[in-house]
Amino acid sequence: MRTPAGKECKFYYQDYHRGKETQECRLIDRNPQSGSWKPSHCGSCPIPGILLANACPTMVVEAHIAKGFLGLTERVEVYAICSQQMCEVKEPRIGCGSCHQLNAPSSAI
Ligand code: SF4
Repeated sequence: MRTPAGKECKFYYQDYHRGKETQECRLIDRNPQSGSWKPSHCGSCPIPGILLANACPTMVVEAHIAKGFLGLTERVEVYAICSQQMCEVKEPRIGCGSCHQLNAPSSAI
């Protein structure tokens, strides 16, 4: 679904049908440690770009709202793990790299 910031995001949900005014981030909403989500957070959220750059099916992302300098600003922070290697993915746009090694052509001859 297209976010208020104009990007496609599979975690965004809205419903304006029959007088409803529902907007949700189903990624941040499932993190009880996070602050409250607002539609304006989509504007600087890295998730759409990450999912566009890396479609690895074993990468799992979490996100929360983090406070910025003096608590005046808020941003979406992302934490990603590889569910196959059970390791943190430090660069979610790239992945952990283990699948690249498994799928690399062998140089044997
Ligand atoms: S905050 Fe990020 S993950 Fe949540 S709906 Fe907006 S773009 Fe998607």
